[in-house]
Amino acid sequence: MQKTPQANRLYELLQRLGRLIRQAEYETGLNPAQWEALCYLARCNKVSNTPSALTAYMGTTKGTISQTLNALERKALIYKQKQSQDPRKVSLHLTKTGRTFIKEHQSKENYSKPLALYTKQQQALIEDAIETILKAQLTKRQGATFGMCKSCAHFCPNHDRTNQNTPHFCQLLNVPLSDKDKEEICAEHLETL
Ligand code: SF4
Repeated sequence: MQKTPQANRLYELLQRLGRLIRQAEYETGLNPAQWEALCYLARCNKVSNTPSALTAYMGTTKGTISQTLNALERKALIYKQKQSQDPRKVSLHLTKTGRTFIKEHQSKENYSKPLALYTKQQQALIEDAIETILKAQLTKRQGATFGMCKSCAHFCPNHDRTNQNTPHFCQLLNVPLSDKDKEEICAEHLETL
């Protein structure tokens, strides 16, 4: 299919924005891969905080992820913990310093100010359009979507209304979910059709 001038313009805008975002990421003192890995660990749920899920999310190699994680560990931003079910596997966690580091640097990047010019519906449309472009790229590369739990086909909202802490449920993993869990991203996320 031939690209329209609008599609070309959109590509150009995303490319420039991507470059500016990467420049800002270097200003954190981390390289973009380290920054992205840290942001992922701050957003993912408890079944997705593993080196293999992070490798799939970033679409890179195990070796690169291992170097990235070692660098973040040296900077005391994350720590690794052996999994109780299988001590050969590790889960990844942000340290207190890591959480503060993310908060401080994310608050410097004020993307909400320009977006405030739009209504909530318009903002949802912008999010939808960018997500559609991203999903098309992921499909091309056979990458997982890592969508938000609440939009997953396995997500069962208000499964147990009597339980205020974990009213929702995951039909795939058979685990109850809280309101916080439903906002997190997941390696097992399945698009609803
Ligand atoms: S409902 Fe989907 S996204 Fe949520 S925990 Fe289960 S598999 Fe992951």
